[in-house]
Amino acid sequence: MVFAHDTEVALAAAAALVNTDGYDEGLPDNAALDEFLQTWGFTGEVRHDEAELNEVRELRPRLRRIWQVDEDEVVTIVNSLLREAQALPQLVKHDVWSYHLHATPPAAPLATRMAVEAAMAFVDVVRSDELRRLRICDYHDCGNVVIDLSKNRSKRFCDDGCGNRAAVAAYRARKSAPATP
Ligand SMILES: [Zn+2]
Ligand SMILES: [Zn+2]
Repeated sequence: MVFAHDTEVALAAAAALVNTDGYDEGLPDNAALDEFLQTWGFTGEVRHDEAELNEVRELRPRLRRIWQVDEDEVVTIVNSLLREAQALPQLVKHDVWSYHLHATPPAAPLATRMAVEAAMAFVDVVRSDELRRLRICDYHDCGNVVIDLSKNRSKRFCDDGCGNRAAVAAYRARKSAPATP
C-alpha cells in the first residue's frame, strides 16, 4: 500500500469520477450517480435532484486539471477546494469503518463532500511527493486519467479496458509482422 487505505480509495474514486466525463457521459442521470456513489462507498445525504447532478459533473474538469498541471498549480487547486468548502478535518467512525478523516459535515452538499474527499487525498500525494503517480492512460486516443497505486509504479492504462486493448493490438501487430528468416 502506497498511501493510507482511505486515501487510496479516495484517489481511485476521484480518477473514476473524472473518467465519467469522457466521449460518453458516464453520469447521464441521478440513477447513474447513485450507482457511482454505491460503487465507491460514498455515504451521507443525497438529494437526487438535477442541481446536485450538475454540481458533481462540474467538479470533474476541476479535478482533471490536477492531472494536467505542475505541483504548484495542483496545490492552488487543492487549497481552493478545501477553502471553498471550509474543510475542517475531524476523525470519525461510522457504519463499519474504524477511525478515518472527514473534513465536511455529513449534511454538506454531495459535490462538496466529494471535492473535499478528493482534495484531502491529493494533500497526501503532494506531501509524499508522489504526483508522478498521476498519469494519462497510455492507450492512444483514450485520454482517461490513471492513478498508479502499484508498488513499482508500472500502471500505464486506465481501468476501462485499455490494458486489454493494448495487449490485443500488440498481439495483432506481432502476427502481421513479416516473419524474420
Ligand atoms: Zn466516512
Ligand atoms: Zn484508457
